[in-house]
Amino acid sequence: MNDGLLAWRRQWLTKPFLAWYKKQLPPMSDTEREAIAAGTVWWDGQLFSGRPDWSILRNFPKPELSAEEQAFLDGPVNTLCAMLDDWKIRRDRDLPEEVWRFIRSNGFFGMIIPKEYGGLGFSALMHSQVVLKISSRSLSAAVTVMVPNSLGPAELLMRYGTEESRKYYLPRLAKGEEIPCFALTAPEAGSDAASIPDSGIVCHGEHKGQRTLGVRVTWNKRYITLAPVATLLGLAFRLHDPDHLLGDKEDIGITLALIPTTTPGVKIGRRHFPSDQAFQNGPTQGKDVFIPMEYLIGGKEHAGQGWRMLMDCLAAGRAISLPALSTGAAQFCARMTGAYARVRRQFGVAVGRFQGVEEALARIATTAYALEAARKLTASTLDKGEQPSVISAILKYHATERMRAAVDDAMDVHGGRGIQDGPRNYLFGAYQSVPVAITVEGANILTRSLMIFGQGALRCHPHLLKEMEAAKLADPNEALKAFDKQLFAHIGDLISNMIRAFWHNITFGAFAHAPSLPRIGWMYHHLHAATVTFAAVADLVMGTLGGELKRKESLSARLGDILSELYIASCVLKRFEDDGLPKEDLPLVEWNLRNSLCTIQRRTDEVLNNLPFRPAAWLLRIVAFPLGRWRRVPADRLAHACATLLLEPGQTRDRLTGGIFWSKNPNDATGRMEAAFTAAVERDHFDDRLRASLGKGARAALADPELAVRHNALTRAEADTLIRANAIIRDAIDVDDFAPEELTAGASASDRPAAAAE
Ligand SMILES: Cc1cc2nc3c(=O)[nH]c(=O)nc-3n(C[C@H](O)[C@H](O)[C@H](O)COP(=O)(O)OP(=O)(O)OC[C@H]3O[C@@H](n4cnc5c(N)ncnc54)[C@H](O)[C@@H]3O)c2cc1C
Repeated sequence: MNDGLLAWRRQWLTKPFLAWYKKQLPPMSDTEREAIAAGTVWWDGQLFSGRPDWSILRNFPKPELSAEEQAFLDGPVNTLCAMLDDWKIRRDRDLPEEVWRFIRSNGFFGMIIPKEYGGLGFSALMHSQVVLKISSRSLSAAVTVMVPNSLGPAELLMRYGTEESRKYYLPRLAKGEEIPCFALTAPEAGSDAASIPDSGIVCHGEHKGQRTLGVRVTWNKRYITLAPVATLLGLAFRLHDPDHLLGDKEDIGITLALIPTTTPGVKIGRRHFPSDQAFQNGPTQGKDVFIPMEYLIGGKEHAGQGWRMLMDCLAAGRAISLPALSTGAAQFCARMTGAYARVRRQFGVAVGRFQGVEEALARIATTAYALEAARKLTASTLDKGEQPSVISAILKYHATERMRAAVDDAMDVHGGRGIQDGPRNYLFGAYQSVPVAITVEGANILTRSLMIFGQGALRCHPHLLKEMEAAKLADPNEALKAFDKQLFAHIGDLISNMIRAFWHNITFGAFAHAPSLPRIGWMYHHLHAATVTFAAVADLVMGTLGGELKRKESLSARLGDILSELYIASCVLKRFEDDGLPKEDLPLVEWNLRNSLCTIQRRTDEVLNNLPFRPAAWLLRIVAFPLGRWRRVPADRLAHACATLLLEPGQTRDRLTGGIFWSKNPNDATGRMEAAFTAAVERDHFDDRLRASLGKGARAALADPELAVRHNALTRAEADTLIRANAIIRDAIDVDDFAPEELTAGASASDRPAAAAE
């Protein structure tokens, strides 16, 4: 563009628009700004651009553990899992002493601490893998291991601590000599954590008999994991300096400290009782507790930077713990529910063969596949230096929500067998613990409504943040120049995305710039079309709503759902390629892709139905649905194929559930169901033969193999095998029962019910 035209554009178009834009800009608090600035942008940025470069995703190295990590997983992690009896843990309301000892002495609390400080120095992928495996055995044990390795003292020290504090605390944390917790939440400040009323005043006080500059802190925190047993309390509070002992500022801001729980005035030790789980969780209080400056994480140089420090850690941390827990639960549901649905017969048929149950099994299987794909890829991006704040919010929300649905489905398929709690029940503990995952690290409704798209739009959009920054430049000329540049690039991209989205939607993505691979090429092409459409819809919705979008949470949530489906579907395709395109897994991939594309269609429709500025909605409807809303949920034949993968022994079932622990001991709840699954496969083989030879008499002969021998339908040896299989199956469908006094309060935790006596 020539200079004259550019000057005219700036003067007559951009300048008035900029004046209007500045008035529309939503007010942004420092804490919001810090949350948006936290972390990095990766594949999410590509999805927002409307021009995803699939080679970035496909060329990302396949996530793999090192030999040393694999050995730890096969060794100490398996040993720990075998030691865990979740029924006993839940009844005792604590991990057994030998489990605590094992966890501490094998370095589980120091997985993320570098080797130079005595830790195991594991990758984020390994950290996630360990939590996944333990969670398939006991949520209480998984949370206990997870917390010291996630957002908390160790990570904060590694990123911001002084070298002196690192050298002192990290080796002690790594060896489990210190048990850490981190206290942010207060009764008044839950989701709105930045509004904590807990405060500290900079002053002089006495420490180790000396007059020392420090802080007098008062706090009242609740819900703090590991607090009742913690020796080291990480604490967030707002720091004030009324006497200007540190500088000019009086309200310094949120500050983080590490306080030994033996410090006079620290009240800690009482317990909450979260969802009937046994992990340690409780409140802590302190009134006018004096701490020296050296207790502040990073020293006084980091005073007031606590919120940014927390947000930076959260950007990465949320991608690990809860996605791992959720994937573990989904894989566990897949393995055990598939087994039970094959073992359990009603109306003479394994319940998993009924179409209604197949639907539930298909949802569980495809969830296990998709969550593993997203978990693994996202964790390994952390190992490559990313801190994907938007993607980690996507994973936190969608992993926990999909896990909740998978656990619900698993409970439904198990019927009464899932409800009757006791040592034979491997599912009920997971069912009870679901709300914990939903609520912690950003409660789910808030995460969906405010964070995924709300933060994602600003963080990942190629122009939005740059436009806001340009508008705020102090020099009006510089502001006009920078804003003009961004604005017109933005308009160009919007028009291009609208045209390309329309084109891809009428040609079913056939001409999209996406990989053309056998079997899954069409999926890439459709996903590409959906991505361009999302970019166009998101842009125009934001353009017409401006700052108002912050209050339109439901619209923001739906746009976030679309972004999330695009991300998870990308991970599914990436996993399939990384796994070597095994054709047996294809139904899982196709189900996931069709389901994601259908959800995207539904959410886009909902956004357009609710968009206040109707002309924009009409225009976007033409762009997004030029041929109408033709996508359908995955067909029954696909659900049947996915469910069958859980009902048959084989590599796909093993691959799908490869991260979890199940016992080989037939007296263990999971080992019993595995043994019954093998027995059921044997029984069904006999059933086919008996049906062929005895017709209607087969059902009675299957239950009483002696009848089959009498009718020469089975040999003696075969009948004995069937009798053994029937006994194993019978045992596996049994539930626990208790003498009434065993269930009354105070019954010894180690009381074993009659049915469990081995
Ligand atoms: C078992 C457990 C362990 C925990 N461990 C720790 C710990 O170790 N350290 C720590 O500091 N904290 C911990 N927490 C606290 C946890 O992070 C908070 O519970 C969480 O932040 C939510 O706060 P709240 O429970 O007060 O819910 P509230 O903030 O009261 O929220 C209630 C509901 O409103 C929704 N909501 C709130 N604001 C919005 C909004 N703007 N838009 C849409 N929806 C909204 C929420 O999503 C939620 O559904 C733990 C909590 C639990 C239950």
